[in-house]
Amino acid sequence: MIPVVALVGRPNVGKSTLFNRLTRTRDALVADYPGLTRDRKYGRAHLSGYEFIVVDTGGIDGTEEGIETKMAEQSLAAIEEADVVLFMTDARAGLTAADLAIAQHLRSRDKVTFVVANKVDGIDGDSACAEFWQLGLGEVYQMAASQGRGVTSLVEYALAPF
Ligand code: GDP
Ligand code: MG
Repeated sequence: MIPVVALVGRPNVGKSTLFNRLTRTRDALVADYPGLTRDRKYGRAHLSGYEFIVVDTGGIDGTEEGIETKMAEQSLAAIEEADVVLFMTDARAGLTAADLAIAQHLRSRDKVTFVVANKVDGIDGDSACAEFWQLGLGEVYQMAASQGRGVTSLVEYALAPF
């Protein structure tokens, strides 16, 4: 079975940018408009000898009533169907209430989850990422998806067991 990797996180953290890089397409909409990708989007990725399905999601902002909106529902569905979750956050924006709400959900699921602090280009990644340990999901992986920094190493690490 080909592993399924879901990209989860609040809007505007860089999920579609990473999706496009992994799948080498422009199929997933990348925009400055939070939440533009409204439905789950699937692509096939080949990287460092690993083949996997990557799932882009519209994002959860944690403010929906009971996280019940359609956009949040498909993000939750993507988590359920995934073998690996890449939980993306924005190192520049810092830790937000939405990140904490998503982390609480992820901790309640039995899923292999990696916390990604994206957008570390041009900033001090180590100090920007320190607060993301508060998510309670372990190691924080630094990435600059738009530059391709940190992508291959995380994929190799995350997919090694599959
Ligand atoms: P999504 O809503 O999570 O899918 O986020 P997008 O992929 O649409 O990206 C939102 C914005 O962040 C866009 O303007 C991207 O160009 C920008 N972005 C994504 N990754 C990076 C990164 O690594 N560094 C920087 N500086 N900007 C990024
Ligand atoms: Mg998107």
